[in-house]
Amino acid sequence: MKIASHLFSILVCGAAVLACIPVAFSKQPSDHLFIDPISSFPPVHLAKTVSPPVLTVKNVRSGEHPTHTRVVLDMTGKVTVRQTRNQTRAVITLANSTLSSRAQQAIKRKTFPRAVTISQGPSHTVNMTLHLEDISKYTFHIYKNPHRVVVDLFRPPPSPPFRLIIDPGHGGKDPGAIGKGGTQEKTIVLQIAKIVRDLVQTRLKAKVFLTRSTDVFLELKKRVEFAEKKEADLFLSIHANSHTRRSIQGVEIYHFGKASDPRAWDVAARENGKLRQFEKGDPRGQFIADKWHEKKIEASRNFAWTTNGKLISVLQKGYPIKDHGVKTAPFHVLSGTMPGILAEIGFISNPTEEKRLRNKTYQRKLAEGIYQGIKQCTQTSKQSSTPSCLLRGKIEDK
Ligand SMILES: [Zn+2]
Repeated sequence: MKIASHLFSILVCGAAVLACIPVAFSKQPSDHLFIDPISSFPPVHLAKTVSPPVLTVKNVRSGEHPTHTRVVLDMTGKVTVRQTRNQTRAVITLANSTLSSRAQQAIKRKTFPRAVTISQGPSHTVNMTLHLEDISKYTFHIYKNPHRVVVDLFRPPPSPPFRLIIDPGHGGKDPGAIGKGGTQEKTIVLQIAKIVRDLVQTRLKAKVFLTRSTDVFLELKKRVEFAEKKEADLFLSIHANSHTRRSIQGVEIYHFGKASDPRAWDVAARENGKLRQFEKGDPRGQFIADKWHEKKIEASRNFAWTTNGKLISVLQKGYPIKDHGVKTAPFHVLSGTMPGILAEIGFISNPTEEKRLRNKTYQRKLAEGIYQGIKQCTQTSKQSSTPSCLLRGKIEDK
């Protein structure tokens, strides 16, 4: 009882002292008088200025929820917030605020998601920067009792794991193109295929299958059948180019380009289960077959352009690479039901490129560029909630 009354008197006294500060120096209403016992107002500012008392960010904390991460800034009073944003980041600026040492420690310990950075800005501002690459959207609210700023960061929906076929061209009795220095296409493309496989498997957690992992001959038909059997989502064939003119060099990406291909039905029928409900020639089934084929071409085109862009940008950082862009041709190996591309990674007939293609560093760069293309077109992004080169769920039975 005695202790209780003692406490009461301290609280009254404390409240009285605090109450006189804002009255004397600001027009803030009295419900803003929650003072952090750890970090009180710096008296210097109060004495010098007529602006409102500087608020303190008492603590920064975060919690994980099924769809989002919540970051909470506990404040000593009602804070005014300003927001600016561009393509890549949003900055929420807390006016008239400083970070307590406890908040600074939480920031140092990185107890909140990496999509957020919090720092003390100039003239008593605290900046909370949201890096938008890692989040699909965010909301923020200012609450009182107790005073706090609550920011919810929503994660992009997880991309589904996909199945990729990598097809190193040629093999066995078929060496493919042969360079002036004796380099065989079949050897180079297998080496690069394995690097791409390892990158995609470890970084994207995708299922990756090679049509051949040794120096064996494999018919084109078998490669397509293998991909169908594995129910692949994507098909990537890797080749090296050749030209009678040894000066020709560069990179080009092909995709299967005949949208009006008469085999649309047969090709689609093999994989698209919905077609089995219809007789061949049934217009409803034909519609799905055509739709599938159309979507496959569109997804292949996305796959081709994305890979072309990434591959060229990675290679051009170190080499003067000629970009031949994206082309279409009726490659048999691209006639499967899944979107696919054929990458001509360089001209083995050109002595400079032949030398590069044998070089391990260059091979890793090639693989990295291809990997980045695969990554970009199989992931969801802020611009698109469906991956641009995967077909799953994109064909409607209507
Ligand atoms: Zn080839």
